[in-house]
Amino acid sequence: MVGSAIWRALERKGYHNLIGHTREELDLINQSAVEAFFAHERPEYVFLAAARVGGIQANNTYRAAFMYENLAIQTNVIHAAYKYGVKRLLFLGSSCIYPRDCTQPIKEEYLLTGPLERTNEPYAIAKIAGLKMCESYNRQYGTQFISAMPTNLYGPNDNFDLETSHVLPALIKKFTEAKEQKLPFVSVWGTGKPRREFMHVDDAAEVVVFLMEIEFDIYRKLNVTHINVGTGIDISISDLATQIRDAVGYEGDIRYDRSISDGVAKKLLDVSLMEKLGWQAKVNLKDGIRSTCAWFVEHRSSL
Ligand code: GDP
Repeated sequence: MVGSAIWRALERKGYHNLIGHTREELDLINQSAVEAFFAHERPEYVFLAAARVGGIQANNTYRAAFMYENLAIQTNVIHAAYKYGVKRLLFLGSSCIYPRDCTQPIKEEYLLTGPLERTNEPYAIAKIAGLKMCESYNRQYGTQFISAMPTNLYGPNDNFDLETSHVLPALIKKFTEAKEQKLPFVSVWGTGKPRREFMHVDDAAEVVVFLMEIEFDIYRKLNVTHINVGTGIDISISDLATQIRDAVGYEGDIRYDRSISDGVAKKLLDVSLMEKLGWQAKVNLKDGIRSTCAWFVEHRSSL
């Protein structure tokens, strides 16, 4: 989802000498394949969006795979970027790197100030390692590697598999199917009380390109290692469910399945650094939900 959105954002801005490979063409977990790619293609700018990602259940179930695959992908790519003289690299992390009981909204400096949320701890540890790797390479080798920590993203090419997806695509799928099949209710996990922040992936892609373009000295002067990327607005899961139900036009009930974990109670990023650097989110949630519902209906046969 994120990689294809960055690709579209680059094309919109007139960049054309783009290199990208599917997982089948280049397995980033394979160190020698990554080395061969960098040696052959010699990219100048690298957006490291590739990762094993998923929602609360997937993170909690596939704990070893989330840790191994993410550590391997980022270690291979970051080291190869250094070795082959990449000018700039942007590493994408996640807002779950921050402590579970963090003061909200979450500022960049709260990193490593407390224990992590248990459901996604292996993923978070991997992403923290990636961010610290970028920081360490900058300090030891003078590289220009920066990290962006996006909030929950959604949009075209999202994962709509109910077992592994995040809440927003899962609810789009559940409400759409419940309407078609005239089901009496839709099951929403947890209590509906947790609060989350959602950003359209096209917004995230634009800011990521923007963060790659600005002078690296700005980051050095501000002593910045990672930048929160979000909208600065959160919403409860129950309000999100209502908004998606309305967008889909489903008229049945919503039932909360309290046997499933809520995860962290609230996750809202402080985006003042991003705004100070000169960028603000554009797509509002209501419009984003509508367009993503439409995208899902149009593309689901090929998902
Ligand atoms: P998180 O932000 O890492 O917790 O990941 P998710 O996007 O998977 O979940 C966010 C919140 O939505 C959690 O409190 C979930 O329990 C809740 N939720 C409610 N219904 C669903 C659903 O159908 N799928 C998912 N993934 N989460 C759901």
